[in-house]
Amino acid sequence: AARVRQGLSRTRNNLGKQLSGLFGGGKIDEDLYEELETVLLTADTGVSATAWLLDELRRQVKRNGLTDAAQLKEALQKALTALLDPLAQLLDTEKNKPFIIMLAGVNGAGKTTSIGKLAHHFQLQGKTVLLAAGDTFRAAAREQLVAWGERNNIAVIAHESNGQQKGDPAAVIFDAINAAKARGTDIVLADTAGRLATQLHLMEEIKKVKRVIAKAEPGAPHETLLVLDANTGQNAVNQVQAFDDALGLTGLIVTKLDGTAKGGVIAAIARQRQQKSPLPIRFIGVGEDLDDLRPFVASEFVEALFD
Ligand code: GDP
Repeated sequence: AARVRQGLSRTRNNLGKQLSGLFGGGKIDEDLYEELETVLLTADTGVSATAWLLDELRRQVKRNGLTDAAQLKEALQKALTALLDPLAQLLDTEKNKPFIIMLAGVNGAGKTTSIGKLAHHFQLQGKTVLLAAGDTFRAAAREQLVAWGERNNIAVIAHESNGQQKGDPAAVIFDAINAAKARGTDIVLADTAGRLATQLHLMEEIKKVKRVIAKAEPGAPHETLLVLDANTGQNAVNQVQAFDDALGLTGLIVTKLDGTAKGGVIAAIARQRQQKSPLPIRFIGVGEDLDDLRPFVASEFVEALFD
């Protein structure tokens, strides 16, 4: 909890401070709601989530006969927790062996870094991990992963690319799954090339990767994660939608929450799927160290914003 709190210090110093200012005193009136709306919108909470939160506050104010602005802080905490709680579903990797996790995301979102952190997380749980270097697009990405694996004593399956010939990501991942089965590995983390949701041919390629995983191991991937940079702002919602349409996501990793003062993006993501099945945020990235990938706990997150 301390790491999450520290990681969210920028958001707390911005959003949290502004909210505390609003809730400092005085009466609850329309001006207050308007100011609150502005604060939430500027923190990337988005129009829809902001409207939902304000409605929820009005309901609480009415139901409980609240009159003082100071009482709104607790009400907002409650509303935010209610909005975010459905996203807090821990990843259960016990259901399959090997448990195969496919990771997607746009370049620079923090995919490679998150794979390292995830491998570390699972190793701490006593699990064996194998990495599939499926980002055959960038030789540097493959080399980065191989070097990282060597340093941290984690197996990496990679294909050499020879000159002009790029490796086939699906083939690498196929080999990795078979290696994991042969070795009795607990968890496979399958990297894929970074891409933009707008690059249609690349989206087709990643769909193929998913199909090949299912061929190598029926029922897999057991988890399809999108790695999402918290600094993406409102575009995050579009990115989630595009990757979900292409792949059928089962979870998110939201990175670089320590680097943004606008943690409201999490609420925007929650609101996006509020009426459908929620898309769990499995982990949040709150720093650059190996242990700075944390399971998402709604109450912990909300508390870290306000205290
Ligand atoms: P990829 O292109 O998606 O594989 O992105 P990388 O894993 O190479 O990450 C891009 C940059 O973001 C690197 O400098 C990482 O150190 C940094 N990064 C990734 N996750 C986090 C995070 O949670 N917090 C911070 N501060 N930096 C991060």
